[in-house]
Amino acid sequence: MPQYQCGRCDTPGCRDYALEIASGKPYNRCVPGGEETLIKIIDLIQPKKILSLDHDYGPPIPNQVAHIIEEECIGCKKCIDACPVNAIHGAPNLMHSVIEDICTGCELCIPPCPVDCIELLETSDTQIQNAKNMSADLYVIKEQIDNKSRIKIKHKNKENIGLAEEINQRLENRSIDKEANLKLIQERLLNKS
Ligand code: SF4
Ligand code: SF4
Ligand code: SF4
Repeated sequence: MPQYQCGRCDTPGCRDYALEIASGKPYNRCVPGGEETLIKIIDLIQPKKILSLDHDYGPPIPNQVAHIIEEECIGCKKCIDACPVNAIHGAPNLMHSVIEDICTGCELCIPPCPVDCIELLETSDTQIQNAKNMSADLYVIKEQIDNKSRIKIKHKNKENIGLAEEINQRLENRSIDKEANLKLIQERLLNKS
């Protein structure tokens, strides 16, 4: 598979499409891979019926990388979620940017951007080949991170609710002189500086 991870074959990534072909799905839907990929698949699976490329699953992908027009980015993070290889970085409400070395040009970040500030720039064959060589591993890592974060967040939520309840209970049982404590902190800070 060509490893754009673009999902145009109607599956989330190249590995998933390969698995689907193995379980009987039509093998002619990787338009970005073109005739070259189609011939490789036919050689490999030796199908009874030879199909031509199904262009309904296109269009092809030229050599391109995404580029964020930084002054226009509102930091909504939607492109990060959409990128299959974690090629976009940025913090919520702050400017985002693309790590061009690993961008396959798959275009998945373009539609979710609410302010349309991602453009596609032409690049070399070598750059795209390098990005595609890394993309299968990066795709798996992204999947793992997503799953782990979900589990972690779920676990942390429970932990946090428990902790908050415990702290509130302790505070209720204590009489705290807020003013005296504040004064103490201010004095300590003053002494330190
Ligand atoms: S390159 Fe895109 S269309 Fe081709 S197999 Fe990979 S994800 Fe599917
Ligand atoms: S930055 Fe955009 S075009 Fe590049 S790999 Fe990620 S989603 Fe695809
Ligand atoms: S989707 Fe667009 S506006 Fe939102 S963070 Fe990405 S580039 Fe910025």
